[in-house]
Amino acid sequence: MKKIIILIIVIMSISIYSCDQAKEKETTGEKSDFQFLTEQFADLKIMRYQIPGFEELSLDQKKLIYYLGEAALAGRDIIFDQNFKYNLAVRRTLEEISKNFAGDRQTQEWSEFNVYLKRVWFSNGIHHHYSTDKFMPGFDKEYFEMLINNSPGSVFPLREGQQLEEFSGLLTEVIFNPDIAAKRIYSNTDFDLIELSACNYYEGVNQEEVEAYYESIKVAGDETPISYGLNSKLIKEDGKVKEDVYKVDGLYGEAISRIIYWLDKAEAVAETEQQKEALGVLAEYYKTGDLELWDKYNVLWVEDLVPEVDYVNGFIEVYGDPMGMKASWESVVNFKNLEATSRTEIISKNAQWFEDNSPTDPRFKKEEVKGVSAKVITVAQLGGDCYPSTPIGINLPNADWIRKDHGSKSVTMDNITYAYDQASLGNGFLEEFCATPEEIERSKKYGYMAGNIHTDMHECLGHGSGQLLPGTSSEALKNYSSALEESRADLFALYYMWSPKMQELGLLPDREAAMAEYDSYMRNGLMTQLTRIQPGKDIEQAHMRNRQLISRWCYESGKEDNVIEEISRDGKTYYKINDYDRLNELLGELLAEVQRIKSEGDYEAGKQLVEAYAVKFDPELHAEVLERYGKLNLAPYGGFINPVLVPVFDGENIIDVKVEYPDDYAEQMMRYAKDYSYLPTYN
Ligand code: ZN
Repeated sequence: MKKIIILIIVIMSISIYSCDQAKEKETTGEKSDFQFLTEQFADLKIMRYQIPGFEELSLDQKKLIYYLGEAALAGRDIIFDQNFKYNLAVRRTLEEISKNFAGDRQTQEWSEFNVYLKRVWFSNGIHHHYSTDKFMPGFDKEYFEMLINNSPGSVFPLREGQQLEEFSGLLTEVIFNPDIAAKRIYSNTDFDLIELSACNYYEGVNQEEVEAYYESIKVAGDETPISYGLNSKLIKEDGKVKEDVYKVDGLYGEAISRIIYWLDKAEAVAETEQQKEALGVLAEYYKTGDLELWDKYNVLWVEDLVPEVDYVNGFIEVYGDPMGMKASWESVVNFKNLEATSRTEIISKNAQWFEDNSPTDPRFKKEEVKGVSAKVITVAQLGGDCYPSTPIGINLPNADWIRKDHGSKSVTMDNITYAYDQASLGNGFLEEFCATPEEIERSKKYGYMAGNIHTDMHECLGHGSGQLLPGTSSEALKNYSSALEESRADLFALYYMWSPKMQELGLLPDREAAMAEYDSYMRNGLMTQLTRIQPGKDIEQAHMRNRQLISRWCYESGKEDNVIEEISRDGKTYYKINDYDRLNELLGELLAEVQRIKSEGDYEAGKQLVEAYAVKFDPELHAEVLERYGKLNLAPYGGFINPVLVPVFDGENIIDVKVEYPDDYAEQMMRYAKDYSYLPTYN
């Protein structure tokens, strides 16, 4: 997902594990008749995903998915408000205009208006979902004011006693003034991160006060600490710093009540007693905001491996908070893909072998690898921070002590990666950036499959591997910890993909599949992921830093032996791997070093590695890549329209649930606005 946590003195109470490894997919498998790609605008593409296997589920399982799906949509407004306090006002205003504008709808400006609205929907607010910079509309203030004044029947979200003129003036500033709320998550540590970040997790407090507050409530020596600050906004009231907690009679209560309503229904059709209990505890947590209950719920959830239907629902990931404490609301509803899960079970079962044979120092290895449960899932509904832009793999829960004592669940989302793959068929990307025809062929043949195995290895083994030396704090790497942690997980996966063990276990057919993954990883890390960066900017996102760290380090370290060769042909740059065996050794060396850094908490070495390899890049290469990419007319970011789960009633009873696949993103957004708009505009 989206993690930009750059802070020298940050107190990270939760480690970050779940992932968005969605890179530009580049393979061509069998083409399906289903239309995956529906439209493209700005730097975004909208796709659809299918829910294969849904028909074969039992009626209760279908009902469970339907109820959890409603719970996933019910919290939609929360993420808008969390991202920025005026997001709901902007969104609702734009939606009113979209419905009611009575003027000319054939102009260029009107089409720019629609692009802007779709971007706001996509990003759950006015800041880019990935870079977190405020994006600007392709029309001007005067046009916007004209729209407001020519949309009869509109109900604009005015504050009590506010005049339309005042309201429209404020909104115009919010949308058009580049200096107001310029970035959702600010990361320059020379300044007060909280003051400069537009995200809505703090109000009236500065960074120092936030740090002091959480330092004061932490219990020293607690081995099972709650996730401090996870589900609240920190505010100042009568000069006193306090938490405004997300709960039924607190912040976001209106939406939380609806979530609870659907969780209660789900409880009645739960697959196991433990799942039922977990749903009950989750609802109770939502009622009270009690973080002890959140932990209790997570333990129940992570230990229950029986149900086929599963879900994520809560305030979970902390990437949206510059302090790395407060969680955005998200939900994913899914069920197990039984066939593909046998693949990850093989990986899990052999976790100890992988740990024992890794190239890291024995002192940094886990003697007993515990609770690496892994499955492949079919996503049935996405909500909150996971919609429409979704991760392709998740590893939860986040609390370190729960992971250590009770394990974690690791999932890869097969129907989502499949949709990515299908949507990119024949887009010309491989032909443009591969160094040789063999590389293109290899990628077509193995890219999709090898990419999935990489994700499985990263999630099930990578994050769970290794241990800290006694006395090393899990917070020692501070602002570099996310990038280094992702590097560690990727290195673990990459290192082993070359191992004959992969064929022995039937995970990869041959070394060529691993070659395809090495090709694509290095190509992406050295070059093509730069398509996501705007000119003049550095790499900030943790996964992107990780990929460049690994590939640049390998490139530089193998330069003398020409392990990875930089080729210039017709003014275009390519990277060609000449020595896969040596590259594999280099990956092992780097894995050992990154593991050492983590195990010893060697902040200086971690900082040096990230700053030297992961942040900066050659601006000339960047410009070249952007130009080549621009000619392909592709969008670097993707998101998904949700399928619609439609209950079939016989009287009061649901007798079946049907799946529909709408193909109009704007229509889905307008429907959500009508059906799932539970929060007031100003919270
Ligand atoms: Zn990861």
